[in-house]
Amino acid sequence: YQISMAQMKVLEVLGRGQYGVVHKVFHQPTHVTMALKEIRLELNKRALQQIIMELDVLHKARSPYIVDFYGAFFVESCVYYCMEYMDFGSLDRLYPSGIPEAVLAKITLSVVKGLQFLKTKLNIMHRDVKPTNILVNKKGEVKLCDFGVSGELNKSLAKTHVGCQSYMAPERIVGTSGPEGYTIQSDVWSLGLTIIEVATARFPYDTAGFTNIFDQLNAIVNGDPPKLPSSRYSPNACDFVAKCLAKESKNRPNYQKLLDHPWLAEAESSEVDMEEWASRAHALFLTRSNASNSSKMPPPARPP
Ligand code: ATP
Ligand code: MG
Repeated sequence: YQISMAQMKVLEVLGRGQYGVVHKVFHQPTHVTMALKEIRLELNKRALQQIIMELDVLHKARSPYIVDFYGAFFVESCVYYCMEYMDFGSLDRLYPSGIPEAVLAKITLSVVKGLQFLKTKLNIMHRDVKPTNILVNKKGEVKLCDFGVSGELNKSLAKTHVGCQSYMAPERIVGTSGPEGYTIQSDVWSLGLTIIEVATARFPYDTAGFTNIFDQLNAIVNGDPPKLPSSRYSPNACDFVAKCLAKESKNRPNYQKLLDHPWLAEAESSEVDMEEWASRAHALFLTRSNASNSSKMPPPARPP
């Protein structure tokens, strides 16, 4: 069974990334609403076929913490990746003024379980943990997307990577252990930064605080790691984040250790209405984006 562009009815734009647009689409043969991610790459047919083949393992990888994969194909030199549509979008849209600690702990629990699943079932690291790659649906479920399953795709993305907000761990920036000089522990660093960003509604290495990108990278490599504000978060939450952000990758806990940490052990049994939080956060996002759209100047009149 081959999924293809001809089967899709394109509905709307969900977002734009460095490599292309993500559309909401309706897959006519199955009546499933999907997210269709376009990845623009200048690749030959052999490399594209290799990517499609490597993505195929995802058909066998199902987890409640990972966005479902429906198939991939290529058109010209673009890869199209079809995945589960997540109604409320990514976490970066849902933290206008930060996220309460109990919700934050539940989100972290899902992310760590997703990362552990990728490691134990697929033997891969994520490589791109950040708020835009953590998606939420209207049931309040939290799932990971955009993980590096295909070696061929990782290779070509690495070549064209032009990221500005750096979630990369110090060892990835320094690259002392060679071009592939980072391990699963680097994802744990990115997780720590992500938690601080969504908790405080600000990226901890905000470019505004630096004169240029080199200053920013220098702060990541040589400065003290950022912390959760202890005035607003519990000692367990602060300790969890501090452990994720150990400068030396070997000092960061593995996923089982993170799951056993008191902060997540508590989250495992706590009752939090994630559905309620998600719908409120999403409604607030819609209100704000409508307000900013309607405050824009009307387009100038076209000359006749
Ligand atoms: P970058 O290109 O730097 O990785 P990004 O993750 O934002 O940034 P994309 O992965 O192309 O870029 O995604 C663009 C946006 O589309 C995301 O920010 C997210 O809000 C939205 N999006 C992606 N996948 C889905 C999905 N499955 N369901 C709903 N929205 C999605
Ligand atoms: Mg993404």
